[in-house]
Amino acid sequence: MISFHDRGGVFRWPAGYRAAAAFTFDLDAESAILAEAPEAAARLSVMSHQAYGPRTGVPRLLRILERRGVRATFFVPGYSAERHPEAVRSIRDAGHEIAHHGYLHEPVTRLDPAGEERVLVQGLEALERVAGVRPIGWRGPNWEMSEATAGILARHGFRYDSSLMDADRPYLLAAGTEVGSPTIVELPIHWGLDDWEQYVYLPGLSGSGLIESPAKVYELWSLELDALAAEGGVFILTNHPFASGRASRAAALERLIEHAQAVEGLWVASLAEIAAHVETLGLEAVHHERPVLPGTGPVAPGTDGGEIPVE
Ligand SMILES: [Zn+2]
Repeated sequence: MISFHDRGGVFRWPAGYRAAAAFTFDLDAESAILAEAPEAAARLSVMSHQAYGPRTGVPRLLRILERRGVRATFFVPGYSAERHPEAVRSIRDAGHEIAHHGYLHEPVTRLDPAGEERVLVQGLEALERVAGVRPIGWRGPNWEMSEATAGILARHGFRYDSSLMDADRPYLLAAGTEVGSPTIVELPIHWGLDDWEQYVYLPGLSGSGLIESPAKVYELWSLELDALAAEGGVFILTNHPFASGRASRAAALERLIEHAQAVEGLWVASLAEIAAHVETLGLEAVHHERPVLPGTGPVAPGTDGGEIPVE
């Protein structure tokens, strides 16, 4: 599979594998709702809907992962760690990877770079205090990233991000524009491989009221898994314990994991394991250039006698 990311280096999966799959869980719990609607803190039913994740979903999902022998990646906002420490410690004790997902699930595009760094550190401190872990992976709340994010992550020792959508395979992301800028690994995701769109309905807060059948969701995800495996890509599924931890959805997820494990040459791994492999490939880093809006961009010399604007 050739893509526009194939500049320099050759992408290879580890020996014996032709594609990869990762099962990831975002332990948003109350944080994703409170970041958008702080007044929902006083709505017990809404808060209980979110608390289902750490209280009931996580134990069920951990049982499934143990049965299937899969090491998963859990992205945990610092606030979730502080509010549900036992759930986070149970994830750690089961041997899964714990990664960073903001403090109160703040989309970084609402922050300036100093604010981004502040919530990053707040999240790191919470995960350290509650579970004694130092994550190497980050996923943007709402999958948002700013132009400053990769540089801030690299400065704090992060080795990968999982928030961008322009590839089927991992790639190296430049954390600056200068030659020799640090890089992190990008592990791409997509809204089609997220359970929120399929399952979540909170009146007045999220969702349209349409709650999909796990049978349909299994079909959606297994089709993408099979196609990405055939193309040598990476299948990264994003589930939320408050959504996919519910009984029939968790059962469908277990079926999907079994299906993935039966695909020949498919490497089922945590995101940290995949990132560590990508770091060995010597790929050329991709820099995401901001689109220039018509009428606001650089002017070619000589076209109007003016100067080239400097950014
Ligand atoms: Zn989230």
